[in-house]
Amino acid sequence: MGKIIAIANQKGGVGKTTTAMNVAACLAVLEFKTLVIDADPQANTTSGLGFDPKEIKASIYDCLLNGLDLQSAKLNTSIENLELIPSVIDLIGAELEMVSLENREELLLHVISEQREAYDFIIIDCSPSLGIITINALTAADSVLIPVQCEYFALEGLGKLLNTIRIVQSRLNPKLEIEGILLTMYDSRLRLSNQVVEEVRLHFRRLVFDTIIPRNTKLSESPSFGLPVISFDGDSKGALAYLNLAREIVDRGSKEI
Ligand code: ADP
Ligand code: MG
Repeated sequence: MGKIIAIANQKGGVGKTTTAMNVAACLAVLEFKTLVIDADPQANTTSGLGFDPKEIKASIYDCLLNGLDLQSAKLNTSIENLELIPSVIDLIGAELEMVSLENREELLLHVISEQREAYDFIIIDCSPSLGIITINALTAADSVLIPVQCEYFALEGLGKLLNTIRIVQSRLNPKLEIEGILLTMYDSRLRLSNQVVEEVRLHFRRLVFDTIIPRNTKLSESPSFGLPVISFDGDSKGALAYLNLAREIVDRGSKEI
Protein backbone atom coordinates (compact mmCIF):
# COMPACT_ATOMS: atom_id res chain seq x y z
CA MET A 1 0.00 0.00 0.00
CA GLY A 2 1.34 3.43 -0.92
CA LYS A 3 2.96 5.52 1.77
CA ILE A 4 1.37 8.97 1.98
CA ILE A 5 3.74 11.82 2.85
CA ALA A 6 2.48 15.39 3.37
CA ILE A 7 5.03 18.17 2.77
CA ALA A 8 3.99 20.86 5.22
CA ASN A 9 5.13 24.08 6.86
CA GLN A 10 2.76 27.04 7.17
CA LYS A 11 5.66 29.36 6.43
CA GLY A 12 5.82 30.28 2.73
CA GLY A 13 8.96 30.03 0.60
CA VAL A 14 10.72 27.33 2.63
CA GLY A 15 10.93 24.80 -0.21
CA LYS A 16 7.72 22.75 0.14
CA THR A 17 6.83 22.78 -3.55
CA THR A 18 10.44 22.34 -4.68
CA THR A 19 10.69 19.35 -2.36
CA ALA A 20 7.31 17.85 -3.30
CA MET A 21 7.88 17.87 -7.05
CA ASN A 22 11.54 16.87 -6.89
CA VAL A 23 11.38 14.16 -4.27
CA ALA A 24 8.37 12.71 -6.09
CA ALA A 25 10.26 12.76 -9.40
CA CYS A 26 13.31 11.13 -7.80
CA LEU A 27 11.20 8.38 -6.21
CA ALA A 28 9.72 7.79 -9.67
CA VAL A 29 13.22 7.63 -11.21
CA LEU A 30 14.10 5.03 -8.56
CA GLU A 31 11.19 3.06 -10.08
CA PHE A 32 8.66 3.62 -7.32
CA LYS A 33 5.21 4.33 -8.65
CA THR A 34 4.52 7.82 -7.34
CA LEU A 35 1.58 10.21 -7.26
CA VAL A 36 2.03 13.86 -6.36
CA ILE A 37 -1.06 15.73 -5.20
CA ASP A 38 -1.00 19.51 -5.49
CA ALA A 39 -3.07 20.71 -2.52
CA ASP A 40 -2.08 24.35 -2.79
CA PRO A 41 -4.27 26.94 -4.60
CA GLN A 42 -1.06 28.56 -5.87
CA ALA A 43 -0.77 25.45 -8.07
CA ASN A 44 3.04 25.71 -8.24
CA THR A 45 3.58 21.96 -8.37
CA THR A 46 1.07 21.76 -11.23
CA SER A 47 2.86 24.45 -13.26
CA GLY A 48 6.31 23.21 -12.18
CA LEU A 49 5.52 19.84 -13.74
CA GLY A 50 4.55 21.48 -17.00
CA PHE A 51 0.79 22.05 -16.77
CA ASP A 52 -0.95 25.39 -17.07
CA PRO A 53 -3.32 25.64 -14.06
CA LYS A 54 -5.72 27.75 -16.18
CA GLU A 55 -6.13 24.83 -18.61
CA ILE A 56 -6.86 22.19 -15.97
CA LYS A 57 -10.26 20.54 -16.49
CA ALA A 58 -10.38 18.29 -13.43
CA SER A 59 -8.47 18.99 -10.24
CA ILE A 60 -8.15 17.99 -6.61
CA TYR A 61 -10.93 20.53 -6.02
CA ASP A 62 -13.41 18.40 -8.00
CA CYS A 63 -12.31 15.32 -6.07
CA LEU A 64 -12.76 17.00 -2.68
CA LEU A 65 -16.04 18.76 -3.37
CA ASN A 66 -17.75 17.42 -6.50
CA GLY A 67 -17.34 13.69 -5.90
CA LEU A 68 -14.95 13.16 -8.81
CA ASP A 69 -12.79 10.07 -8.39
CA LEU A 70 -9.05 10.59 -8.14
CA GLN A 71 -8.41 8.49 -11.24
CA SER A 72 -10.34 10.97 -13.41
CA ALA A 73 -8.22 13.95 -12.32
CA LYS A 74 -4.91 12.17 -12.83
CA LEU A 75 -2.33 13.50 -15.31
CA ASN A 76 0.69 11.67 -16.66
CA THR A 77 3.89 13.71 -16.33
CA SER A 78 7.00 13.70 -18.51
CA ILE A 79 8.58 11.29 -16.00
CA GLU A 80 7.77 7.60 -16.13
CA ASN A 81 6.12 6.36 -12.89
CA LEU A 82 5.12 9.91 -11.88
CA GLU A 83 1.51 11.08 -11.98
CA LEU A 84 -0.05 14.32 -10.79
CA ILE A 85 -3.36 15.40 -9.32
CA PRO A 86 -3.36 19.08 -10.28
CA SER A 87 -4.60 22.08 -8.37
CA VAL A 88 -6.46 25.14 -9.55
CA ILE A 89 -6.87 28.60 -8.13
CA ASP A 90 -10.47 27.65 -7.20
CA LEU A 91 -9.06 25.69 -4.32
CA ILE A 92 -9.20 28.91 -2.30
CA GLY A 93 -13.00 28.70 -2.55
CA ALA A 94 -12.80 25.04 -1.56
CA GLU A 95 -11.54 26.01 1.91
CA LEU A 96 -14.73 28.01 2.46
CA GLU A 97 -17.01 25.34 1.03
CA MET A 98 -15.38 22.61 3.09
CA VAL A 99 -15.84 24.36 6.41
CA SER A 100 -19.56 23.65 6.48
CA LEU A 101 -19.31 19.97 5.51
CA GLU A 102 -19.56 17.00 7.81
CA ASN A 103 -16.30 15.03 8.17
CA ARG A 104 -14.61 18.01 6.53
CA GLU A 105 -11.18 16.91 7.82
CA GLU A 106 -11.44 13.49 6.18
CA LEU A 107 -12.42 14.34 2.61
CA LEU A 108 -8.92 13.86 1.18
CA LEU A 109 -8.44 10.63 3.13
CA HIS A 110 -11.52 9.15 1.47
CA VAL A 111 -10.58 10.47 -1.95
CA ILE A 112 -7.11 8.90 -1.74
CA SER A 113 -8.05 5.58 -0.15
CA GLU A 114 -9.53 4.05 -3.31
CA GLN A 115 -6.25 4.68 -5.21
CA ARG A 116 -3.74 3.87 -2.50
CA GLU A 117 -2.99 0.38 -3.74
CA ALA A 118 -1.89 1.73 -7.11
CA TYR A 119 1.19 3.57 -5.75
CA ASP A 120 4.33 3.10 -3.72
CA PHE A 121 4.36 6.75 -2.65
CA ILE A 122 1.79 9.54 -2.58
CA ILE A 123 3.32 12.98 -1.95
CA ILE A 124 1.05 15.90 -0.99
CA ASP A 125 2.25 19.48 -1.48
CA CYS A 126 0.50 21.67 1.12
CA SER A 127 -0.24 25.38 1.04
CA PRO A 128 1.48 27.83 3.38
CA SER A 129 -1.32 27.70 5.95
CA LEU A 130 -2.74 25.40 8.57
CA GLY A 131 -6.21 25.70 7.02
CA ILE A 132 -8.69 22.92 6.38
CA ILE A 133 -6.94 21.56 3.26
CA THR A 134 -3.65 21.18 5.12
CA ILE A 135 -5.54 19.49 7.98
CA ASN A 136 -7.02 17.15 5.35
CA ALA A 137 -3.50 16.36 4.13
CA LEU A 138 -2.28 15.63 7.67
CA THR A 139 -5.34 13.47 8.29
CA ALA A 140 -4.76 11.45 5.14
CA ALA A 141 -0.99 11.12 5.57
CA ASP A 142 1.17 8.44 7.15
CA SER A 143 3.89 10.99 7.79
CA VAL A 144 4.79 14.63 7.40
CA LEU A 145 8.00 15.98 5.92
CA ILE A 146 8.83 19.48 7.16
CA PRO A 147 11.15 21.64 5.05
CA VAL A 148 13.06 24.24 7.07
CA GLN A 149 14.96 26.97 5.28
CA CYS A 150 18.54 27.65 6.44
CA GLU A 151 17.69 31.30 7.10
CA TYR A 152 16.93 33.73 9.89
CA PHE A 153 13.93 32.61 11.97
CA ALA A 154 14.24 29.08 10.58
CA LEU A 155 12.47 27.64 13.60
CA GLU A 156 9.76 30.29 13.67
CA GLY A 157 6.32 28.70 13.51
CA LEU A 158 7.68 25.19 13.92
CA GLY A 159 6.23 24.91 17.43
CA LYS A 160 2.79 25.76 16.09
CA LEU A 161 3.14 23.20 13.29
CA LEU A 162 4.26 20.45 15.69
CA ASN A 163 1.35 21.35 17.95
CA THR A 164 -1.08 21.06 15.02
CA ILE A 165 0.44 17.69 14.16
CA ARG A 166 -0.14 16.53 17.77
CA ILE A 167 -3.75 17.70 17.66
CA VAL A 168 -4.32 15.84 14.37
CA GLN A 169 -2.66 12.77 15.91
CA SER A 170 -4.90 12.83 18.95
CA ARG A 171 -8.21 13.61 17.22
CA LEU A 172 -8.04 12.53 13.60
CA ASN A 173 -5.04 10.42 12.66
CA PRO A 174 -3.25 8.52 15.46
CA LYS A 175 -0.84 6.87 13.02
CA LEU A 176 0.62 10.17 11.76
CA GLU A 177 4.41 10.30 12.14
CA ILE A 178 7.15 12.75 11.33
CA GLU A 179 8.95 11.62 8.19
CA GLY A 180 11.69 14.12 8.94
CA ILE A 181 12.79 17.73 9.07
CA LEU A 182 14.56 18.73 5.86
CA LEU A 183 17.09 21.56 5.81
CA THR A 184 16.72 23.50 2.55
CA MET A 185 18.52 26.29 0.66
CA TYR A 186 21.76 25.62 2.48
CA ASP A 187 24.76 27.73 1.51
CA SER A 188 27.97 26.30 2.94
CA ARG A 189 29.74 29.67 2.61
CA LEU A 190 27.34 31.36 4.99
CA ARG A 191 27.91 31.21 8.72
CA LEU A 192 24.18 31.63 9.21
CA SER A 193 23.39 28.52 7.15
CA ASN A 194 25.82 26.49 9.24
CA GLN A 195 24.40 27.90 12.47
CA VAL A 196 20.88 26.92 11.44
CA VAL A 197 22.00 23.36 10.61
CA GLU A 198 23.65 23.12 14.05
CA GLU A 199 20.65 24.56 15.86
CA VAL A 200 18.07 22.40 14.10
CA ARG A 201 20.15 19.24 14.63
CA LEU A 202 20.62 20.12 18.31
CA HIS A 203 16.88 20.61 18.79
CA PHE A 204 15.49 17.81 16.67
CA ARG A 205 18.38 15.31 16.48
CA ARG A 206 17.28 12.07 14.79
CA LEU A 207 14.24 13.77 13.25
CA VAL A 208 16.50 15.71 10.87
CA PHE A 209 17.33 14.13 7.50
CA ASP A 210 21.05 13.53 6.86
CA THR A 211 20.50 14.95 3.38
CA ILE A 212 20.67 18.75 3.23
CA ILE A 213 19.31 20.53 0.16
CA PRO A 214 21.81 23.14 -1.08
CA ARG A 215 20.84 26.46 -2.59
CA ASN A 216 21.10 25.66 -6.28
CA THR A 217 19.93 27.78 -9.21
CA LYS A 218 18.93 24.69 -11.22
CA LEU A 219 16.25 24.07 -8.59
CA SER A 220 14.76 27.54 -9.04
CA GLU A 221 15.08 27.48 -12.85
CA SER A 222 13.65 24.03 -13.63
CA PRO A 223 9.97 24.82 -12.78
CA SER A 224 9.83 27.51 -15.47
CA PHE A 225 10.71 24.75 -17.96
CA GLY A 226 7.95 22.55 -16.51
CA LEU A 227 10.49 19.98 -15.39
CA PRO A 228 11.72 18.50 -12.13
CA VAL A 229 15.44 19.12 -11.68
CA ILE A 230 16.36 15.48 -12.33
CA SER A 231 15.16 15.89 -15.93
CA PHE A 232 16.37 19.48 -16.27
CA ASP A 233 19.95 18.87 -15.10
CA GLY A 234 20.48 15.43 -13.63
CA ASP A 235 24.08 16.15 -12.62
CA SER A 236 23.30 19.34 -10.69
CA LYS A 237 23.81 19.51 -6.94
CA GLY A 238 20.08 20.02 -6.52
CA ALA A 239 19.24 16.85 -8.46
CA LEU A 240 21.77 14.77 -6.53
CA ALA A 241 20.50 16.10 -3.20
CA TYR A 242 16.88 15.22 -3.97
CA LEU A 243 17.96 11.80 -5.22
CA ASN A 244 19.74 11.27 -1.89
CA LEU A 245 16.65 12.42 -0.03
CA ALA A 246 14.49 9.96 -1.98
CA ARG A 247 16.92 7.14 -1.07
CA GLU A 248 16.88 8.22 2.57
CA ILE A 249 13.08 8.11 2.60
CA VAL A 250 13.12 4.64 1.06
CA ASP A 251 15.75 3.39 3.51
CA ARG A 252 14.61 4.83 6.80
CA GLY A 253 11.25 4.45 8.44
CA SER A 254 9.47 7.51 9.75
CA LYS A 255 9.86 8.58 13.38
CA GLU A 256 7.55 9.28 16.27
CA ILE A 257 7.69 12.77 17.75
P1 ADP B 1 7.12 26.91 -0.69
O1 ADP B 1 6.41 25.89 -1.50
O2 ADP B 1 7.45 26.45 0.71
O3 ADP B 1 6.44 28.25 -0.67
P2 ADP B 1 9.09 26.90 -2.85
O4 ADP B 1 9.50 25.48 -3.01
O5 ADP B 1 8.10 27.42 -3.81
O6 ADP B 1 8.58 27.15 -1.35
O7 ADP B 1 10.41 27.79 -2.85
C1 ADP B 1 10.38 29.19 -2.77
C2 ADP B 1 11.32 29.78 -3.83
O8 ADP B 1 12.65 29.37 -3.57
C3 ADP B 1 10.99 29.29 -5.23
O9 ADP B 1 11.24 30.34 -6.13
C4 ADP B 1 11.98 28.15 -5.46
O10 ADP B 1 12.31 28.00 -6.83
C5 ADP B 1 13.17 28.62 -4.66
N1 ADP B 1 13.94 27.50 -4.09
C6 ADP B 1 13.46 26.50 -3.31
N2 ADP B 1 14.43 25.66 -2.93
C7 ADP B 1 15.57 26.14 -3.49
C8 ADP B 1 16.94 25.71 -3.47
N3 ADP B 1 17.34 24.65 -2.78
N4 ADP B 1 17.85 26.46 -4.18
C9 ADP B 1 17.46 27.56 -4.86
N5 ADP B 1 16.20 28.00 -4.91
C10 ADP B 1 15.25 27.31 -4.25
MG1 MG C 1 4.52 25.96 -2.43
